[in-house]
Amino acid sequence: TPLTSIRMFVDMLHHNQNDPEETRVCLEVLHKETARLSQRIERLLDWGRMEAGRRVYDLKSETASDVINQALDAFRATQVGIEHDITVELPDEPVWLNVDRNALEDALVNLLTNAIKYGGDEPNVAVIVTTEERHVRLSVRDDGIGIPRREHKRIFQKFYRHDDSLKREVEGSGLGLAIVRHIAIGHRGRVELQSEPGQGSTFTIVLPRGQAAKPERGETDVADAA
Ligand code: ADP
Repeated sequence: TPLTSIRMFVDMLHHNQNDPEETRVCLEVLHKETARLSQRIERLLDWGRMEAGRRVYDLKSETASDVINQALDAFRATQVGIEHDITVELPDEPVWLNVDRNALEDALVNLLTNAIKYGGDEPNVAVIVTTEERHVRLSVRDDGIGIPRREHKRIFQKFYRHDDSLKREVEGSGLGLAIVRHIAIGHRGRVELQSEPGQGSTFTIVLPRGQAAKPERGETDVADAA
């Protein structure tokens, strides 16, 4: 667990205080491991609040691109020292959502984390936004190991992890997708999955379309001015 390696590297630091290179390596690992630990704790607390019906969503008008950029920043902060190539495809016009920005960010970070974890040796990950008349579709696509059809429902259950050889090598709690699903439903939306073994996976959060934010007081409203 992250805590085990934190203790180990703190011990190492203690004994190698005079070696600058070793100190640098220890600090880098500690930085990464504490980020992992706090992500896990956040997840558990989040799930606890959701189960208790206490996760309140503070809905506001946001653009999809703002939320996605915030999610990408948060995701990159958990990947210390690793650069991933993640492409973003957005429509030209701003896409408005009525969402709790932090909750949607959490959902996207969970999907991005999985896309990288199960994305194979060199994951190719894309975030794609498309619109329908009444809905916005936010997809996270990877070209990794994929998921057999019989698992498509089960993987959204809490603490469920698909039982294959990879499971033992890739760490996780089995809570990520349960949280994503809870957040989507909390926004009157849903999560869809397209995936076949060996063909990668696309997880899509489908949300109702939102309306453009009203201008703040003092800002000129184009419609009023016209
Ligand atoms: P965790 O990743 O912590 O095990 P999740 O709830 O996020 O838990 O995912 C549940 C299971 O779904 C994973 O154990 C994995 O088997 C499968 N899974 C999730 N995302 C992907 C993906 N992008 N590609 C392949 N399998 C996935």
